[in-house]
Amino acid sequence: LTSRLPDVGTTIFTVMSALATEKGAVNLGQGFPDFHCDPALVDAVADAMRSGLNQYPPMTGIPGLREVVADKVEAIYGHRYDPATEITVTAGATQGILTSVLCCVHPGDEVIVIEPAYDSYVPAIQLAGGVPVFVQMEVTAAGYAVPWQKVAAAVSPRTRLIMINSPHNPTGSVLRIADINALADIVRGTGILVLSDEVYEHMVYDGARHESVCRHPELAARSFVVSSFGKTYHVTGWKIGYVAAPAALMSEFRKVHQFNVFTVNTPVQYGLAAFMKNPAPYLELPAFYQRKRDLFREGLAATRFKLLPSDGTYFQCVEYSDVSSLPEADFAKWLTTEIGVAAIPVSAFYHEPRESGIVRFCFAKQDETLKLALERLSKL
Ligand code: PMP
Ligand code: GLN
Repeated sequence: LTSRLPDVGTTIFTVMSALATEKGAVNLGQGFPDFHCDPALVDAVADAMRSGLNQYPPMTGIPGLREVVADKVEAIYGHRYDPATEITVTAGATQGILTSVLCCVHPGDEVIVIEPAYDSYVPAIQLAGGVPVFVQMEVTAAGYAVPWQKVAAAVSPRTRLIMINSPHNPTGSVLRIADINALADIVRGTGILVLSDEVYEHMVYDGARHESVCRHPELAARSFVVSSFGKTYHVTGWKIGYVAAPAALMSEFRKVHQFNVFTVNTPVQYGLAAFMKNPAPYLELPAFYQRKRDLFREGLAATRFKLLPSDGTYFQCVEYSDVSSLPEADFAKWLTTEIGVAAIPVSAFYHEPRESGIVRFCFAKQDETLKLALERLSKL
């Protein structure tokens, strides 16, 4: 069989989690919380199951969940998506990304990918027959930044889509209003669409706000906005999220979605719809994670790692040149095996080998877990 994805192996997240388990290491690699979600959310899902809500829901997701999402997005970002025609519930952000790409990218179309990039973007483009065009973020004194003039220079008559991600995995950087305006300037007057991966939308720190592309009317009119309930409600294993887009785009999205998964499991949708009526969990999330970020950064400041900024997400990147000269993947494995703390090499987020001497830690962990990891890292 000729592979459709010849360059793809097992994802770095799976590789590092398996190694962490095998070695009994503290797993700060793959991004997921090691604490429970709100028991009220579990009850809401169990209630739905017990009351018999266990058959196929509508293809696009239950109306109650799409409505609660539309209300929440409007309340926060001031843009109203029509829940009937502009929001679809997906099997996590991963399926939302794949389906968005498949529904608009034709063979030979170019898609601009900003690196480091989440590992599902390029395979999605390749499955659509598209051609990824890469622009690398630059590391400045303020951390990773998108060089928009290079994005503009990467645009060609074949450009169909630009993929962005803010708050950004793995760098923890956050796009500000000037970035969003720069993106709008680039696409204005073109037919280029935008895929905005906003799964960490509720993890922006230090009082800043999340600049969803849907706040910007011109961008909202040409964007697929992807989000994930897994991140916001500490349930990454439920694999549920949504995509919001203008009706014309969403109608094409749904054509692919109905033959991709058709729909997403019923009781979780009812549970989330009931639970999400209370805004407290996502309003409290920035303070919740900012405290963990600060605890983790304070501990790291006493080690030989150099901290990069973490303005959003639940990731903290560190530069390790004072600790080791190993390449990132080898260093991450050594750290897991010998020191007992798993991390993710940032090089895994580039299409070509690129060594920056930086690894990513996830701080979505109980304080005790973070403290144990810090104790081990401080020995270096
Ligand atoms: N995009 C980014 C940037 C992510 O970090 C993740 C998950 N870690 C996803 C998409 C996928 O989210 P989900 O688990 O909901 O598919
Ligand atoms: N997105 C998570 C991370 O960056 C992992 C998701 C996965 O395992 N595919 O760690």
